[in-house]
Amino acid sequence: MEWLKERIIKEGVVLSEQVLKLDALLTHQVDPALIMEMGREFAARFKESGVTKVVTLESSGISVAFAAAFELGVPMVFARRKKTLLADPDALCERVPSFTKGIVTDIMVSRQFIGEHDKVLFIDDIIANGDAARGLIKIIDRAGAELIGLGVVIEKSFQAGARTLREQNVHVESLVTISSLEDGKISFS
Ligand code: 5GP
Repeated sequence: MEWLKERIIKEGVVLSEQVLKLDALLTHQVDPALIMEMGREFAARFKESGVTKVVTLESSGISVAFAAAFELGVPMVFARRKKTLLADPDALCERVPSFTKGIVTDIMVSRQFIGEHDKVLFIDDIIANGDAARGLIKIIDRAGAELIGLGVVIEKSFQAGARTLREQNVHVESLVTISSLEDGKISFS
């Protein structure tokens, strides 16, 4: 994934030893050609698994999940961040801490769109502590669907999320792994 590492070095901004700002290529602006390339890569890694749905979290997972779903020829569902107190009787909800906002948010997926016959590929932009991923995985479980795996564009391996999920036998594929953001420098492994 040298092309992606080069873009991250060129356009990413190290905000702290924990956080990399990626607004120029993932979390605010997106380059469609780059996103489609990511989608092709995820599709290639999971194409033998019989995926029936790609699932992600709004908002910054949506572009990559769309690209992966397009390549796999299946629908994409994005978990919505609930902004209403009106209960949807058809919804599966989980409360997740937000890494960047420092608050908790409620995420929800309608039972209409994930069910027990689904084989789900979960795609996300970045994994840090894994809270967002754990919340969505609980929803996938509660829907009775099978989790085929998690594809993340960037794994920050100095935070525990991806490692913990692998220990729980989740198949995690990351396009690039960042081992440190120390001294304002992005180090890959
Ligand atoms: P986690 O729940 O794994 O701790 O954090 C995952 C979510 O927080 C990602 O979906 C991503 O949107 C956001 N996030 C985590 N780390 C970073 C980071 O270093 N930079 C940016 N821009 N977002 C991050």
